Amino acid sequence: MFDYIPEMYKDEFADSIDESEAWVKEVVSGKLATHRRPPELLTRDVVAKAINSERDAGRASEHGGAYLDISWRNPEQVKKKLPGMYHQFKELAAVDITKERMEVGPTAHYVMGGVKVDPYSQETSVSGLFAAGEAATGLHGANRLGGNSLSDLIVFGKIAGEKASEYAKNVEYVEINQSEVDEVLAETLEPLSRKGGENPAKIVNDLRVMMQEKAGIIRTGELLKEALEDLDQLENRAKLSSPGGGMKYNPGWHQALEIGAMIDVSRMCALAALKREESRGAHTRDDFPETDNDHWGKINSVIKLSKDGSMKIEFTSYPKIPNELRKLLDAEDLMEEE
Ligand SMILES: Cc1cc2nc3c(=O)[nH]c(=O)nc-3n(C[C@H](O)[C@H](O)[C@H](O)COP(=O)(O)OP(=O)(O)OC[C@H]3O[C@@H](n4cnc5c(N)ncnc54)[C@H](O)[C@@H]3O)c2cc1C
Repeated sequence: MFDYIPEMYKDEFADSIDESEAWVKEVVSGKLATHRRPPELLTRDVVAKAINSERDAGRASEHGGAYLDISWRNPEQVKKKLPGMYHQFKELAAVDITKERMEVGPTAHYVMGGVKVDPYSQETSVSGLFAAGEAATGLHGANRLGGNSLSDLIVFGKIAGEKASEYAKNVEYVEINQSEVDEVLAETLEPLSRKGGENPAKIVNDLRVMMQEKAGIIRTGELLKEALEDLDQLENRAKLSSPGGGMKYNPGWHQALEIGAMIDVSRMCALAALKREESRGAHTRDDFPETDNDHWGKINSVIKLSKDGSMKIEFTSYPKIPNELRKLLDAEDLMEEE
């Protein structure tokens, strides 16, 4: 990882094994660190790209990732400092990290975009529908840093819950239209009547592999255009897929129902990534490696479904940051400079 420290982090991370070790010693003994952190602890997008580069250079681990090895450390210290990791690897992968190296690799970890919401109520453009957390647009911009999803959920989940309950108390009783209910029921049951199609699980897997390859960590315009074409084909296959079985305990049926939403989200990701001709946060375009603060830095991408079923992308400027928040940000900049 010493080869992968970005310029902007050069001052914050150790540049030698000795310095890294000095940091680990301090932290393990419960002291406040005075040395710089080891570069394995760089932000997730940097580590993911480093693993990707190592794989491209022909140095991948057995399954296309990299090895993370702490098995040479004192086992008691590993268990004390990383109890969750020790437990997870042991229980889920039968790997004892105090004795063996771990094989790790980048995976989809967060949808940085989301449903547009009002920041003060978390209400969407559908009246009475509230969203928070990963489903909603939020404050992370192009890169959610580790741990920030939890704080996002607590703060904006609380607001959404309170506002939704206020709304529910004040809203008039709504008569449910039975024909709309019947329509949804028919749509939901329809996959069970299909015969002879592919297993939906196979299509979900093909979608996963395709998106990882073509809209994954490093994107290019060419790959993203291919992804959009592949999504059309996957959508056609999905419509014909047949889960088989009945209504009880049938995960294939659930997959057949969910696959349309998965394709919609994938299409939005690929479209927004294709149009954003710059690199920013976790979005890296090999054909546009620079960050363009003058243009793209001021723009949000908004995707809407048209009446004809196609997706249209629009670009809007950021709303002006309110003064009370600006002051906080300025204070932070000032502290960093100090
Ligand atoms: C590998 C990985 C590691 C991560 N590590 C961290 C970390 O260290 N720190 C951190 O802060 N964040 C981390 N995150 C991100 C964080 O876990 C997620 O952003 C967060 O859990 C999202 O919470 P949520 O409530 O918005 O959505 P979810 O946790 O996805 O909850 C949505 C819920 O809705 C349910 N649901 C879906 N469809 C329906 C339906 N039709 N009807 C009813 N229910 C439905 C789902 O089953 C699910 O329970 C990590 C994510 C990943 C993938």
